[in-house]
Amino acid sequence: MVLAQFPLLAQQHSWINSLQNLANKPIDNKTVIKNLGRFTLGDLNMIWGVPEYENMRNELLQLMMKFKLCYEIPSQKGTYVAPQLLTENQPEYEWDDRENLLLRYTYDFMPKGILLQFIVVMSEDIWNQTVWKSGVVLNKDKTQAEVIEHYGKREIQIRVAGAHKKELMTIVIHELDQIHKTYKRLKFDKLIPCNCKDCKPNNEPYFYKYEQLQNFIEKRIFEIQCGVTGNMVQVRRLIDDIIGYKSDKEVEEIMSKQKKATSGSINVGDNFSGTIITGAVKNSFNKIESSNASDELKETLMKLVQAVEAMSQALPDEQATEVKDDLDKLDDEATKENPKQKWYSVSIDGLVAAAQNLGKVGDAVIELTGKVRKILTGGVP
Ligand SMILES: [Zn+2]
Repeated sequence: MVLAQFPLLAQQHSWINSLQNLANKPIDNKTVIKNLGRFTLGDLNMIWGVPEYENMRNELLQLMMKFKLCYEIPSQKGTYVAPQLLTENQPEYEWDDRENLLLRYTYDFMPKGILLQFIVVMSEDIWNQTVWKSGVVLNKDKTQAEVIEHYGKREIQIRVAGAHKKELMTIVIHELDQIHKTYKRLKFDKLIPCNCKDCKPNNEPYFYKYEQLQNFIEKRIFEIQCGVTGNMVQVRRLIDDIIGYKSDKEVEEIMSKQKKATSGSINVGDNFSGTIITGAVKNSFNKIESSNASDELKETLMKLVQAVEAMSQALPDEQATEVKDDLDKLDDEATKENPKQKWYSVSIDGLVAAAQNLGKVGDAVIELTGKVRKILTGGVP
């Protein structure tokens, strides 16, 4: 079949297949390249050209941001930046290098684009547009973080200076780790600087592998020897000095503050503040959010995601995997155009069975699945 003979079909065909292509178009555009990655809504009209795309422009733009291909400059609404087109040159800026917190990531194999994604994720906190293709300076609560990728060395180097160093470091680590999770089998080490009296004032201290420090703590080995000076240092203090010991809940609190300040798109329900927002939960949220389900159904499903996450922590591993599987299937079916009762009932029944006799965490799941069922059946229990 020659598609050219069926222009309408061909259009349809290319539309479906080239979403990614369209999203990439601004990045291949000469004007955008010349402007070092900056473009406006007006530019997009020109770039996408075809009038049919005009009413889809916003969706395409959202798609680009979802793919982490671009971000909007917070202080200049309507102007966007595609970080991969940014200048390669590190701009000049002042940096106070006293009492910095340092951290490094080293990679066995470093995929391209980790830092570009990080730039998009952190775009709201970029200090004074100080961003280039392989680095960015963030500013938040009188604290600055400098994050630079050294691709040749397979390394990301982080320095944090200012009033609330550990908080900002926690945010940077969390966001980088979220990006790491999207790569399968990515091997990397987190490196923590030595704090012995000779390393501390040094800009090139000895670095320890975070994993090894964790190992020592588990084995109750409290001291470790600096690889440069031979001084003995306290293992716990090394970690404490950089990120401090934070429970998952504390990390979550810092991150939810961060999310509120930045996107505000996903409202992490207040009923289950003990839930850790893991990558899987985020994925479910995105799946639900991007579906055509009613607002009421979306909201209930998101609450259910959190309730199931909380419940699964009270279950043995095998059962926890099962309930997450049930939840996944329920989300898939419930957000379809015409959800089939036969399918979603199986998942709901599975969740309810697991929630029996678990007390409060289970009750929340039972209540919310009941509500989902009610919405889906239009009120018929
Ligand atoms: Zn040392």
